[in-house]
Amino acid sequence: MKVYADNAATTYLSKTAREVLIDALDNYNGNPNSLHSDGQLAQEKLDEAREVVAKCINAKKPNEIYFTSGGSEADNQALISAAKGLKGKGKNHLITLSIEHHAVLHTMARLEKEGFEVTYLNPQSDGIVAVEDVRDAIRDDTALVSIMFANNEMGAIQPIAEIGALCKEKGVLFHTDAVQAVAHLPIDVQEMNIDMLSLSAHKFHGPKGVGVLYARNGIKLINVIEGGAQERGKRAGTINVPGIMSMAAALKDGCDNMEVNMKKVAALRDRLIEGLKDIPYSKLNGDAVKRLPGNVNYSFEGVEGESLLLSLDNEGICCSSGSACTSESLEPSHVLLGMGVPIEIAHGSLRFSLDINNTEEEIDYIVEKVKKIIAHYREISPYWEDLKTGKRKHCLAE
Ligand SMILES: *Cc1c(COP(=O)(O)O)cnc(C)c1O
Repeated sequence: MKVYADNAATTYLSKTAREVLIDALDNYNGNPNSLHSDGQLAQEKLDEAREVVAKCINAKKPNEIYFTSGGSEADNQALISAAKGLKGKGKNHLITLSIEHHAVLHTMARLEKEGFEVTYLNPQSDGIVAVEDVRDAIRDDTALVSIMFANNEMGAIQPIAEIGALCKEKGVLFHTDAVQAVAHLPIDVQEMNIDMLSLSAHKFHGPKGVGVLYARNGIKLINVIEGGAQERGKRAGTINVPGIMSMAAALKDGCDNMEVNMKKVAALRDRLIEGLKDIPYSKLNGDAVKRLPGNVNYSFEGVEGESLLLSLDNEGICCSSGSACTSESLEPSHVLLGMGVPIEIAHGSLRFSLDINNTEEEIDYIVEKVKKIIAHYREISPYWEDLKTGKRKHCLAE
């Protein structure tokens, strides 16, 4: 059996998104900046797509939607704009979480090198930041709070509406990396007081290389890419109209069917969690309830996540052993470490990210294979032998 359970890394293009993309490559090939009819036809489609995105996150105006090359670029532009835009007003301080995506963390690190001060808050052990910790971190010179909507590795959903209200009260800009949440969870940028938001098409069955930065009107954006005057002068480069049309189709699908999809996917998630619970010395990472419908992140004591991942791949199961970027370096996940998971436990972690294409049969197959493979690795492991004989102490309960 072949099971794709790595949808947090990327999803497959939906049938609708694919059809729209192929059709647009042939029929909407004009440059929307051209005045001739081909260009204007493309411009109309672009306007339609902007409206779809605005509606899905309840932006006040479609002109608050800026198309980018993806979530990373949107994150970069949001942070750089807030930091550099407010520097002249004596605001030199930024707040974020230690468990953010590297698109946020590495941009923050660059801003630190340029003289900005950054506070990295740790979440609680359930993966969720305490709103009081955010409140305590805000200072007179704070320019921006950037806190992700939901975590890509362990799925915890942050108290975004409360943080938005807090930032509004304090007069601080609020950005959220909502790449894992858009089209999967209800989002209302007005009600939640979100000033800027990043999203990415390939995390909801759209194409790769397309995303959005939402920026509330009145926020001054600073270009990350200089050139032509596309996107109201804030993002240069000939516009990827087919990719954007395809993204809009995928987004509309996700937003129109959200309630049904959430229910279906959460049921699959809970079935998987239930199945893995039988494995001794194992633990679910992240809050069990306030979590993405499709995310299951589990730690198994005494085994290496990478070995598990490769053995599962041999059985046809695609999953992840941490974030896609850290898995190459074999460093334990900064997300699990940030929420206080001991290093040896973080090393033995797997992430399954499910979506509407998965089935109950696939979940049962995953459970069967994970149980078999873990039992095998533990049997041949000297480390496990030490745990059994009491030479080492268990970190997790049986
Ligand atoms: C995937 C991801 C990104 C990066 O998006 P790209 O479109 O691949 O650049 C950023 N943040 C989070 C939380 C993600 O999951």
